[in-house]
Amino acid sequence: MNVCIVGTGYVGLVSAACFAEMGNNIFCVDVNPNVVEKLRKGEVHIFEPGLAAIVKRNNEQGRLHFTTDLGEGLNEADVVFVAVGTPCGSDGTCDLSFVEAVAREIGQKMTTPKIVVDKSTVPVGTADRVRTLIAEELDKRGESIDFDVVSNPEFLKEGDAVNDFMKPDRVIVGTENEQSAQTLKTLYAPFARSREKLIVMGTRSAEMTKYAANCMLATKISFINEVANICERVGANVSDVRAGIGSDSRIGYSFIYPGVGYGGSCFPKDVKALIGTAQEYGYDAKLIRSVDEVNNAQKHVLSTKILDYYEPQGGVEGKVLALWGIAFKANTDDIREASAIEVIKDLTAKGMKIRAFDPEANERAREEIGHIENLEIMDDQDAVLEGADALAVVTDWNQFRNPDLDNLKAKLNAPLVFDGRNLYQPEEMGKAGFAYFSIGRLPVK
Ligand code: NAD
Repeated sequence: MNVCIVGTGYVGLVSAACFAEMGNNIFCVDVNPNVVEKLRKGEVHIFEPGLAAIVKRNNEQGRLHFTTDLGEGLNEADVVFVAVGTPCGSDGTCDLSFVEAVAREIGQKMTTPKIVVDKSTVPVGTADRVRTLIAEELDKRGESIDFDVVSNPEFLKEGDAVNDFMKPDRVIVGTENEQSAQTLKTLYAPFARSREKLIVMGTRSAEMTKYAANCMLATKISFINEVANICERVGANVSDVRAGIGSDSRIGYSFIYPGVGYGGSCFPKDVKALIGTAQEYGYDAKLIRSVDEVNNAQKHVLSTKILDYYEPQGGVEGKVLALWGIAFKANTDDIREASAIEVIKDLTAKGMKIRAFDPEANERAREEIGHIENLEIMDDQDAVLEGADALAVVTDWNQFRNPDLDNLKAKLNAPLVFDGRNLYQPEEMGKAGFAYFSIGRLPVK
């Protein structure tokens, strides 16, 4: 099948690479000429495990094409995926300007019938809006060309995106049109071999499904973080509580890891967007509002522990903190809404010096937050420790899980660790002579 994909970010490029891998011919369009230039040379501009090899292979075999010109990519294909960003607007609602710009351009440039597929996460009613914008542009041209708009939200997670796309839990196709459903079924057949994996529903239900899924996951995270905060106060251990509740199959273990709150380009904005959509329709989404509030507070829990620790010693001014992990989670270079940024801002504002290291996100961090006073981003996990007064762990990268504690102790000025991801065991840290503070568990002092 000939497919056009607009937007070559985490979602667009992974979709393009995986569709190409199944033998489809994919035309990728992005407004960013630097990105297109790199991709044409087979260089991938984002870090996503396994992606570069698939892009390289399909580039070489001629199934992946990259352009900045939507007209060029669009008219090679019958199906056009819109996978551009939908960031949070200044009022907290979803900013649809990129999606709308693409819809207008499709209306201006299409010359043959198209199935336009919204893959970006968009509020309920956006498929109708995209339909209207395309029709308006066709009207202006005095053209009448058949098109349909389908909702096909994406559920991949950064860090495991290729695997998620290749073996999805489900593929949601939102359309009222039998022929469009059939085309998408054919395209997705290699990924969703079992029929039950491909679920066809109305466009509004499909749009809502994406928000409901992300809000449910965000709710689980805020729930366990709230439980962790209560555990700390009552002298319970959240790891034991997690094991205790997760063993109930109705609850399960996944997504109930306490930490420093969720970040990334999806959960924070999607939670806010659903609150906004509900409000627009006169409904106060109290539970989801609380999920957002709990998360905003959780991003400051680790910095508060550090500030409280140093308070009796005259504060953090002049102290040096080694910080492991800037990305919003492991296996990605994405730092959008990362909790580490809040930790860094809270502490550097009080005069603490931070030496931060991330295995993949350093480059992006230098671009986005490199200007912060008292922050130094370093490329060596060990070097940040040298002469630091304490270590804070903020991202759950595997390479942070099993450090050489003797080496850690030798390098730090004091044996002191603040763990925002509960990667270590309090008892073991205590035995090794560390003062150790984590989330929802009693500190070792
Ligand atoms: P991204 O920011 O990584 O990529 C978006 C790309 O679109 C950029 O390369 C940008 O240059 C390009 N773009 C913007 N306007 C354009 C235009 N007019 N024409 C062509 N290209 C244009 O975004 P992302 O993380 O891939 O997310 C895309 C959408 O998918 C969002 O709605 C997001 O919520 C959703 N989503 C993201 C994830 C994820 O894990 N990142 C998962 C599921 C769904």
